[in-house]
Amino acid sequence: MIPFNRPHFTGRELEFIQEVFESGRTAGNFAFTRRCQAYFERRYGLGKALLTTSCTDALELAALACGIGPGDEVILASYGFVSTANAFALRGAGLVFADSGPDHPNMAVASIADRVTEATRAIVVTHYAGVAVDMDPVLALAEARGIQVIEDAAQGIEATYKGRPLGTLGHLGALSFHETKNIQCGEGGLLMINDGELAARAEIMWEKGTNRAAFFRGEVDKYTWVDLGSSFSPPEITAAVLWAQLVDLEAIQRRRMAVWNRYHAALAPLEAAGHASLPHVPAQCVHNGHIYYLVLDSLATRTRLTEHLKAKGVNAVFHYQSLHRSPYFAPRHLGGPLPNSDRYSDCLLRLPLWPDLGPADQDAIIGAVAGFFGA
Ligand SMILES: *Cc1c(COP(=O)(O)O)cnc(C)c1O
Repeated sequence: MIPFNRPHFTGRELEFIQEVFESGRTAGNFAFTRRCQAYFERRYGLGKALLTTSCTDALELAALACGIGPGDEVILASYGFVSTANAFALRGAGLVFADSGPDHPNMAVASIADRVTEATRAIVVTHYAGVAVDMDPVLALAEARGIQVIEDAAQGIEATYKGRPLGTLGHLGALSFHETKNIQCGEGGLLMINDGELAARAEIMWEKGTNRAAFFRGEVDKYTWVDLGSSFSPPEITAAVLWAQLVDLEAIQRRRMAVWNRYHAALAPLEAAGHASLPHVPAQCVHNGHIYYLVLDSLATRTRLTEHLKAKGVNAVFHYQSLHRSPYFAPRHLGGPLPNSDRYSDCLLRLPLWPDLGPADQDAIIGAVAGFFGA
Protein backbone atom coordinates (compact mmCIF):
# COMPACT_ATOMS: atom_id res chain seq x y z
CA MET A 1 0.00 0.00 0.00
CA ILE A 2 1.33 3.45 -0.87
CA PRO A 3 0.64 5.50 2.28
CA PHE A 4 -0.96 8.92 2.14
CA ASN A 5 1.93 10.55 3.98
CA ARG A 6 5.36 9.59 5.24
CA PRO A 7 7.20 12.07 7.48
CA HIS A 8 10.58 13.11 6.10
CA PHE A 9 13.69 13.10 8.30
CA THR A 10 16.86 14.93 7.35
CA GLY A 11 19.18 12.63 9.28
CA ARG A 12 20.37 15.24 11.78
CA GLU A 13 17.52 14.84 14.28
CA LEU A 14 19.39 12.48 16.65
CA GLU A 15 22.54 14.62 16.56
CA PHE A 16 20.59 17.66 17.75
CA ILE A 17 18.62 15.67 20.34
CA GLN A 18 21.98 14.46 21.68
CA GLU A 19 23.04 18.10 21.98
CA VAL A 20 19.96 18.79 24.10
CA PHE A 21 20.85 15.96 26.49
CA GLU A 22 24.43 17.18 26.74
CA SER A 23 23.32 20.76 27.40
CA GLY A 24 21.35 19.64 30.46
CA ARG A 25 18.52 22.02 29.51
CA THR A 26 15.53 20.00 28.37
CA ALA A 27 12.57 22.27 29.14
CA GLY A 28 11.32 24.94 26.73
CA ASN A 29 12.86 28.25 25.63
CA PHE A 30 16.53 27.27 25.60
CA ALA A 31 19.03 27.13 22.71
CA PHE A 32 17.07 25.22 20.04
CA THR A 33 13.80 27.04 20.71
CA ARG A 34 15.59 30.38 20.36
CA ARG A 35 17.41 29.23 17.23
CA CYS A 36 14.12 28.19 15.58
CA GLN A 37 12.37 31.41 16.57
CA ALA A 38 15.26 33.58 15.38
CA TYR A 39 15.29 31.67 12.08
CA PHE A 40 11.67 32.58 11.32
CA GLU A 41 12.06 36.14 12.62
CA ARG A 42 14.94 36.68 10.21
CA ARG A 43 13.60 34.73 7.25
CA TYR A 44 10.14 36.32 7.32
CA GLY A 45 11.10 39.70 8.78
CA LEU A 46 8.94 39.20 11.87
CA GLY A 47 8.85 41.21 15.04
CA LYS A 48 8.35 38.06 17.09
CA ALA A 49 7.99 34.32 16.58
CA LEU A 50 6.97 32.01 19.44
CA LEU A 51 7.40 28.24 19.18
CA THR A 52 4.37 26.31 20.46
CA THR A 53 3.46 22.68 21.08
CA SER A 54 1.17 22.69 18.02
CA CYS A 55 -0.60 25.01 15.61
CA THR A 56 -3.71 24.38 17.69
CA ASP A 57 -1.80 25.82 20.63
CA ALA A 58 -0.58 28.79 18.56
CA LEU A 59 -4.17 29.59 17.54
CA GLU A 60 -5.30 29.39 21.18
CA LEU A 61 -2.51 31.78 22.14
CA ALA A 62 -3.57 34.09 19.28
CA ALA A 63 -7.18 34.17 20.53
CA LEU A 64 -5.98 34.85 24.08
CA ALA A 65 -3.55 37.60 22.99
CA CYS A 66 -6.27 39.34 20.94
CA GLY A 67 -8.46 39.47 24.04
CA ILE A 68 -11.37 37.77 22.24
CA GLY A 69 -14.28 37.03 24.59
CA PRO A 70 -18.03 36.57 24.99
CA GLY A 71 -20.07 38.91 22.79
CA ASP A 72 -17.34 39.03 20.13
CA GLU A 73 -17.90 37.53 16.70
CA VAL A 74 -15.19 35.76 14.75
CA ILE A 75 -15.55 35.03 11.02
CA LEU A 76 -13.86 31.85 9.77
CA ALA A 77 -14.15 29.14 7.12
CA SER A 78 -16.57 26.27 7.55
CA TYR A 79 -14.35 24.19 5.28
CA GLY A 80 -11.44 24.01 7.72
CA PHE A 81 -9.88 22.28 10.68
CA VAL A 82 -11.61 22.11 14.04
CA SER A 83 -8.69 23.73 15.94
CA THR A 84 -9.22 27.03 14.16
CA ALA A 85 -12.77 27.12 15.48
CA ASN A 86 -12.03 25.72 18.94
CA ALA A 87 -9.39 28.36 19.69
CA PHE A 88 -12.06 31.09 19.54
CA ALA A 89 -14.99 29.03 20.88
CA LEU A 90 -12.87 28.35 23.99
CA ARG A 91 -12.75 32.12 24.62
CA GLY A 92 -16.54 32.31 24.44
CA ALA A 93 -16.68 34.05 21.05
CA GLY A 94 -19.55 33.57 18.61
CA LEU A 95 -18.39 31.75 15.49
CA VAL A 96 -19.68 33.01 12.14
CA PHE A 97 -18.86 30.60 9.34
CA ALA A 98 -18.18 31.86 5.82
CA ASP A 99 -18.33 29.89 2.59
CA SER A 100 -15.56 28.73 0.27
CA GLY A 101 -15.29 30.14 -3.23
CA PRO A 102 -16.80 28.39 -6.25
CA ASP A 103 -13.36 27.55 -7.68
CA HIS A 104 -11.22 27.22 -4.53
CA PRO A 105 -11.67 25.70 -1.06
CA ASN A 106 -10.45 29.00 0.45
CA MET A 107 -12.94 31.35 2.05
CA ALA A 108 -14.41 33.78 -0.53
CA VAL A 109 -13.91 37.48 0.19
CA ALA A 110 -17.57 38.25 -0.64
CA SER A 111 -18.71 35.69 1.90
CA ILE A 112 -16.51 37.29 4.59
CA ALA A 113 -17.73 40.82 3.76
CA ASP A 114 -21.37 39.67 3.99
CA ARG A 115 -20.85 38.51 7.57
CA VAL A 116 -19.16 41.54 9.13
CA THR A 117 -21.25 43.17 11.87
CA GLU A 118 -20.66 45.66 14.70
CA ALA A 119 -19.63 42.71 16.88
CA THR A 120 -16.95 41.32 14.52
CA ARG A 121 -13.63 41.31 16.37
CA ALA A 122 -11.56 38.98 14.20
CA ILE A 123 -11.38 37.38 10.79
CA VAL A 124 -9.48 34.10 10.79
CA VAL A 125 -8.32 33.05 7.33
CA THR A 126 -7.09 29.54 6.55
CA HIS A 127 -4.78 29.36 3.53
CA TYR A 128 -5.85 25.99 2.16
CA ALA A 129 -3.09 23.87 0.62
CA GLY A 130 -0.64 26.75 1.03
CA VAL A 131 -2.61 28.87 -1.46
CA ALA A 132 -3.35 32.30 -0.02
CA VAL A 133 -6.80 33.68 0.58
CA ASP A 134 -7.12 36.94 -1.41
CA MET A 135 -5.71 39.00 1.45
CA ASP A 136 -5.68 42.61 0.22
CA PRO A 137 -9.48 43.03 0.26
CA VAL A 138 -9.67 41.15 3.58
CA LEU A 139 -7.02 43.40 5.15
CA ALA A 140 -8.70 46.54 3.78
CA LEU A 141 -12.07 45.48 5.17
CA ALA A 142 -10.54 44.67 8.56
CA GLU A 143 -8.47 47.84 8.75
CA ALA A 144 -11.47 50.07 8.06
CA ARG A 145 -13.33 48.54 11.02
CA GLY A 146 -10.51 47.84 13.49
CA ILE A 147 -10.90 44.07 13.10
CA GLN A 148 -7.96 41.73 13.89
CA VAL A 149 -6.81 39.40 11.12
CA ILE A 150 -5.40 36.05 12.17
CA GLU A 151 -3.94 33.69 9.59
CA ASP A 152 -4.17 29.95 10.04
CA ALA A 153 -1.08 29.27 7.94
CA ALA A 154 -0.78 25.69 9.27
CA GLN A 155 -0.37 24.54 5.66
CA GLY A 156 1.35 27.69 4.44
CA ILE A 157 5.07 27.57 5.27
CA GLU A 158 7.17 29.19 2.52
CA ALA A 159 4.12 30.08 0.42
CA THR A 160 3.54 33.72 -0.53
CA TYR A 161 0.82 36.19 -1.49
CA LYS A 162 2.09 39.00 -3.76
CA GLY A 163 5.59 38.07 -2.62
CA ARG A 164 4.84 38.20 1.13
CA PRO A 165 5.08 35.03 3.28
CA LEU A 166 1.80 33.57 4.53
CA GLY A 167 1.32 34.14 8.23
CA THR A 168 2.97 37.59 8.07
CA LEU A 169 0.10 39.46 6.40
CA GLY A 170 -2.36 39.74 9.28
CA HIS A 171 -1.78 40.75 12.90
CA LEU A 172 -0.96 37.16 13.87
CA GLY A 173 -0.19 34.00 11.93
CA ALA A 174 0.17 30.36 12.96
CA LEU A 175 2.25 27.58 11.37
CA SER A 176 2.04 23.84 12.04
CA PHE A 177 4.88 21.31 12.26
CA HIS A 178 2.60 18.29 12.67
CA GLU A 179 3.96 15.12 11.04
CA THR A 180 1.63 15.65 8.07
CA LYS A 181 2.94 19.14 7.28
CA ASN A 182 5.80 20.19 4.98
CA ILE A 183 8.25 20.64 7.88
CA GLN A 184 7.59 18.49 10.92
CA CYS A 185 8.76 17.71 14.43
CA GLY A 186 5.94 15.31 15.32
CA GLU A 187 3.78 17.94 16.95
CA GLY A 188 4.71 21.59 16.93
CA GLY A 189 3.65 25.05 15.88
CA LEU A 190 4.68 28.68 15.67
CA LEU A 191 2.88 31.92 16.38
CA MET A 192 4.12 34.80 14.21
CA ILE A 193 3.30 38.28 15.46
CA ASN A 194 3.48 41.42 13.36
CA ASP A 195 2.30 43.98 15.90
CA GLY A 196 4.53 45.28 18.71
CA GLU A 197 1.87 45.51 21.41
CA LEU A 198 0.46 42.07 20.60
CA ALA A 199 3.99 40.64 20.54
CA ALA A 200 4.74 41.81 24.07
CA ARG A 201 1.40 40.48 25.34
CA ALA A 202 1.71 37.14 23.52
CA GLU A 203 5.22 36.58 24.87
CA ILE A 204 3.97 37.02 28.44
CA MET A 205 1.04 34.66 27.84
CA TRP A 206 3.42 32.14 26.25
CA GLU A 207 5.47 32.30 29.46
CA LYS A 208 2.44 31.27 31.58
CA GLY A 209 1.43 34.88 32.18
CA THR A 210 4.80 35.96 33.58
CA ASN A 211 7.54 38.33 32.43
CA ARG A 212 10.07 35.48 32.54
CA ALA A 213 11.27 36.19 28.98
CA ALA A 214 12.09 39.79 29.92
CA PHE A 215 13.89 38.43 33.01
CA PHE A 216 16.03 36.14 30.80
CA ARG A 217 16.95 39.13 28.66
CA GLY A 218 18.00 41.02 31.79
CA GLU A 219 15.23 43.61 31.38
CA VAL A 220 13.76 42.97 34.86
CA ASP A 221 15.50 41.60 37.99
CA LYS A 222 12.77 39.13 38.99
CA TYR A 223 9.85 37.59 37.21
CA THR A 224 6.24 37.48 38.31
CA TRP A 225 2.61 37.04 37.26
CA VAL A 226 1.64 39.98 35.04
CA ASP A 227 -1.20 38.71 32.79
CA LEU A 228 -3.22 35.61 31.87
CA GLY A 229 -1.21 32.81 30.35
CA SER A 230 -0.67 29.09 29.98
CA SER A 231 1.96 26.53 28.97
CA PHE A 232 2.59 26.91 25.24
CA SER A 233 6.29 26.23 24.66
CA PRO A 234 7.49 22.79 23.53
CA PRO A 235 10.42 21.00 25.15
CA GLU A 236 13.90 21.47 23.66
CA ILE A 237 13.87 17.93 22.19
CA THR A 238 10.99 18.97 19.95
CA ALA A 239 12.76 22.19 18.99
CA ALA A 240 15.92 20.17 18.18
CA VAL A 241 13.96 17.97 15.75
CA LEU A 242 12.44 21.08 14.17
CA TRP A 243 15.90 22.61 13.79
CA ALA A 244 17.09 19.48 11.97
CA GLN A 245 14.25 20.07 9.49
CA LEU A 246 14.83 23.80 9.10
CA VAL A 247 18.46 23.35 8.09
CA ASP A 248 17.10 21.45 5.06
CA LEU A 249 13.97 23.53 4.46
CA GLU A 250 14.76 24.54 0.90
CA ALA A 251 15.72 21.02 -0.22
CA ILE A 252 12.56 19.56 1.32
CA GLN A 253 10.45 22.19 -0.43
CA ARG A 254 12.12 21.52 -3.80
CA ARG A 255 11.36 17.80 -3.56
CA ARG A 256 7.79 18.40 -2.50
CA MET A 257 7.18 20.87 -5.33
CA ALA A 258 8.63 18.39 -7.85
CA VAL A 259 6.09 15.76 -6.76
CA TRP A 260 3.24 18.31 -6.90
CA ASN A 261 4.26 19.54 -10.35
CA ARG A 262 4.52 15.99 -11.65
CA TYR A 263 0.92 15.28 -10.57
CA HIS A 264 -0.25 18.53 -12.10
CA ALA A 265 1.30 17.81 -15.51
CA ALA A 266 0.24 14.16 -15.61
CA LEU A 267 -3.34 14.77 -14.52
CA ALA A 268 -4.02 17.82 -16.74
CA PRO A 269 -5.74 15.65 -19.42
CA LEU A 270 -8.31 14.52 -16.81
CA GLU A 271 -9.35 18.10 -16.23
CA ALA A 272 -9.39 18.84 -19.96
CA ALA A 273 -11.72 15.85 -20.42
CA GLY A 274 -14.03 17.16 -17.66
CA HIS A 275 -13.43 14.22 -15.27
CA ALA A 276 -12.13 16.23 -12.29
CA SER A 277 -10.98 19.71 -11.31
CA LEU A 278 -7.32 20.16 -10.38
CA PRO A 279 -5.95 22.70 -7.87
CA HIS A 280 -6.23 26.28 -9.04
CA VAL A 281 -3.43 28.67 -8.00
CA PRO A 282 -4.13 32.39 -8.64
CA ALA A 283 -1.30 34.36 -10.28
CA GLN A 284 -0.65 36.41 -7.11
CA CYS A 285 0.06 33.25 -5.08
CA VAL A 286 3.14 31.07 -4.87
CA HIS A 287 2.10 27.84 -3.18
CA ASN A 288 4.26 25.31 -1.33
CA GLY A 289 3.15 21.94 -2.68
CA HIS A 290 1.41 21.05 0.56
CA ILE A 291 -1.60 19.18 -0.89
CA TYR A 292 -2.43 17.70 -4.27
CA TYR A 293 -6.16 17.26 -4.63
CA LEU A 294 -8.86 16.46 -7.14
CA VAL A 295 -12.41 17.80 -6.96
CA LEU A 296 -14.83 15.17 -8.29
CA ASP A 297 -18.38 15.70 -9.56
CA SER A 298 -20.11 14.02 -6.60
CA LEU A 299 -19.68 12.21 -3.30
CA ALA A 300 -20.55 8.95 -5.09
CA THR A 301 -17.69 9.42 -7.56
CA ARG A 302 -15.26 10.27 -4.78
CA THR A 303 -16.26 7.16 -2.82
CA ARG A 304 -15.86 4.94 -5.88
CA LEU A 305 -12.49 6.50 -6.78
CA THR A 306 -11.23 6.13 -3.18
CA GLU A 307 -12.19 2.44 -3.22
CA HIS A 308 -10.68 1.92 -6.67
CA LEU A 309 -7.40 3.46 -5.48
CA LYS A 310 -7.42 1.33 -2.32
CA ALA A 311 -7.83 -1.78 -4.48
CA LYS A 312 -4.79 -0.61 -6.49
CA GLY A 313 -2.76 -0.14 -3.29
CA VAL A 314 -3.08 3.65 -3.01
CA ASN A 315 -4.29 5.39 0.15
CA ALA A 316 -6.01 8.64 -0.89
CA VAL A 317 -7.92 10.57 1.76
CA PHE A 318 -10.50 13.33 2.05
CA HIS A 319 -10.86 15.84 4.88
CA TYR A 320 -12.89 18.59 6.54
CA GLN A 321 -16.55 18.00 7.04
CA SER A 322 -18.20 21.46 7.00
CA LEU A 323 -17.90 22.75 10.56
CA HIS A 324 -21.28 24.53 10.44
CA ARG A 325 -22.95 21.13 9.95
CA SER A 326 -20.89 19.26 12.57
CA PRO A 327 -22.68 17.56 15.48
CA TYR A 328 -21.21 20.09 17.91
CA PHE A 329 -21.91 23.23 15.92
CA ALA A 330 -25.05 22.55 13.82
CA PRO A 331 -27.42 23.42 16.72
CA ARG A 332 -25.48 26.69 17.23
CA HIS A 333 -25.27 27.69 13.56
CA LEU A 334 -27.36 30.79 12.93
CA GLY A 335 -26.34 31.41 9.31
CA GLY A 336 -27.70 29.82 6.17
CA PRO A 337 -26.38 27.00 4.01
CA LEU A 338 -22.76 27.11 2.76
CA PRO A 339 -22.96 25.09 -0.44
CA ASN A 340 -19.36 25.46 -1.60
CA SER A 341 -18.00 24.28 1.74
CA ASP A 342 -20.30 21.25 1.57
CA ARG A 343 -19.19 20.53 -1.99
CA TYR A 344 -15.50 20.39 -0.99
CA SER A 345 -16.44 18.24 2.02
CA ASP A 346 -18.09 15.75 -0.33
CA CYS A 347 -16.03 15.94 -3.50
CA LEU A 348 -12.37 16.73 -2.67
CA LEU A 349 -9.84 13.90 -2.60
CA ARG A 350 -6.16 14.25 -1.62
CA LEU A 351 -3.51 12.13 -3.32
CA PRO A 352 -0.43 10.78 -1.47
CA LEU A 353 2.25 13.47 -1.31
CA TRP A 354 5.52 13.58 0.60
CA PRO A 355 9.07 14.64 -0.33
CA ASP A 356 10.43 11.11 -0.75
CA LEU A 357 7.57 9.80 -2.91
CA GLY A 358 9.48 8.18 -5.76
CA PRO A 359 8.60 8.33 -9.47
CA ALA A 360 7.62 4.63 -9.65
CA ASP A 361 5.09 4.98 -6.83
CA GLN A 362 3.84 8.25 -8.23
CA ASP A 363 3.37 6.73 -11.67
CA ALA A 364 1.37 3.91 -10.06
CA ILE A 365 -0.89 6.48 -8.39
CA ILE A 366 -1.31 8.51 -11.58
CA GLY A 367 -2.00 5.35 -13.57
CA ALA A 368 -4.61 4.20 -11.06
CA VAL A 369 -6.41 7.56 -11.16
CA ALA A 370 -6.33 7.71 -14.96
CA GLY A 371 -7.49 4.09 -15.15
CA PHE A 372 -10.56 4.89 -13.08
CA PHE A 373 -11.70 7.41 -15.69
CA GLY A 374 -10.75 5.08 -18.55
CA ALA A 375 -8.12 7.63 -19.57
C1 LIG B 1 -2.81 20.87 10.67
C2 LIG B 1 -3.74 22.03 10.76
C3 LIG B 1 -4.05 22.64 11.97
C4 LIG B 1 -3.60 22.09 13.30
O1 LIG B 1 -2.24 21.96 13.41
P1 LIG B 1 -1.64 21.15 14.66
O2 LIG B 1 -0.19 21.53 14.63
O3 LIG B 1 -1.87 19.69 14.37
O4 LIG B 1 -2.34 21.59 15.88
C5 LIG B 1 -4.84 23.77 11.96
N1 LIG B 1 -5.33 24.27 10.82
C6 LIG B 1 -5.07 23.70 9.63
C7 LIG B 1 -5.60 24.33 8.40
C8 LIG B 1 -4.28 22.55 9.56
O5 LIG B 1 -4.03 22.00 8.37
